[in-house]
Amino acid sequence: MTTVVERLHGRGPLFSVEFFPPRDSAEELVLWRAIRELEPLDPAFVSITYGAGGSSRDFTIRTTGRVAQETTLVPMAHLTAVDHSVAELRNVIGWYAAVGVRNILAVRGDPPGDPNGEWIAHPEGLTYAEELVRLCRELGDFCVGVAAFPYGHPRSGDVDEDTKFLVRKLRAGADFAIAQLFFEPEDFLRLRDRVAALGCDAALIPGLMPLTTPRTLAKTIELSGADVPPSVARKLDPFVDDPVAFRKAGVDLVTEMGERLLAEGVPSLHFYTLNRSKATREVVARLGLVPART
Ligand code: FAD
Repeated sequence: MTTVVERLHGRGPLFSVEFFPPRDSAEELVLWRAIRELEPLDPAFVSITYGAGGSSRDFTIRTTGRVAQETTLVPMAHLTAVDHSVAELRNVIGWYAAVGVRNILAVRGDPPGDPNGEWIAHPEGLTYAEELVRLCRELGDFCVGVAAFPYGHPRSGDVDEDTKFLVRKLRAGADFAIAQLFFEPEDFLRLRDRVAALGCDAALIPGLMPLTTPRTLAKTIELSGADVPPSVARKLDPFVDDPVAFRKAGVDLVTEMGERLLAEGVPSLHFYTLNRSKATREVVARLGLVPART
C-alpha cells in the first residue's frame, strides 16, 4: 500500500481530500458517492477523521478499510488520544494495519462535549499528539502526519511556542503536517517560514475548504479560530443573501488561494470536503491538478 510521502514525492503538485465518518446508512451513501466521484481525479490520499467516541470510531476504521480494499485511492486514517488508554490505541492502530491502512494522522483530539473545556488525559493514556506519533512509529511501518495551526493552536500561549511544539511532533517521527483552515495564503506561508526557521524541512500541506455557503464560512471561522479578514469580507459579504453569487465568489476565492499556494511551491492542497465532492472537483480542475485523461 502506497504511503502519503511516496505520493508527495511522485507526480506533483497534487491535492487530497478529507471526509468525516458517516453516522448512518443515508450519510454513508452520500460519502461513497463523493469518494467515487473523486476517485478518477487521482487525489494523493483520502483521509477520514476520527470521531469523539462510540460508533463513529468504528465507522472511521470501517470506511478507511473499505477505501483501502475497494478503491484505487490511498487512505489515511485519523486517530486521537481522547478517552483511549494506550492499550486501546494499540488496538486501533492494529486494526488499521489489519485493514491495509499505512497512513495515520496522529492528533490529540479535543475534550468530548466542550472542545474548549479542560483537556484531561485518560489515566492510562497520552497527553500530547507527539506521544501518539511515537506510538504509531513504534508499532509498525506507518507513514504519520500531524496537525498544524497557522494562527497557533487555541490553547497555545503564542504562535512561536506552538510552532516549537509542531516541530517537536515532526521530529518525534511525523513525516508531514496538514494545516488547519486559514483565510489568506500568507497566513500559511508565515507558518511555513516559522517551521523552516527552526531548521525543519518536513512537508507542510495547506488545508482549504471551498467556501460555497455562509455556513462553510462560519465553519472556517470556528475551526481556524480567526475572524474574517477585510480582504475576504469584501469578496463575500455582498453576496450573503444570494446563494448562487456567494458560491461563485467563494469558489473563486479558494481557487485564487490555491493558485498562490501552488506558486509558492506547496507539495499538495488538502480539501476539507464535508463529504461532498462537487466544489472540490471544480477547484482542482481550475487549478489543473487533475490527470489530463479526465
Ligand atoms: P497537540 O499537538 O498535542 O497540541 C495540543 C496543545 O498542546 C497545543 O496547544 C500545543 O501547542 C500544546 N503542546 C503540544 N505539545 C506539547 C508539549 N510537548 N508540551 C506542552 N504543550 C504542548 N480532531 C478530532 O477529534 N478528530 C480528527 O480526526 C481530527 N483531525 C484533524 C485534522 C487536522 C488536519 C487538524 C488541523 C485538526 C484535526 N483535529 C481532529 C482537531 C485536533 O484534534 C484539535 O485541534 C486538538 O485540539 C489539537 O490536536 P493536536 O494534535 O494539534 O494536539
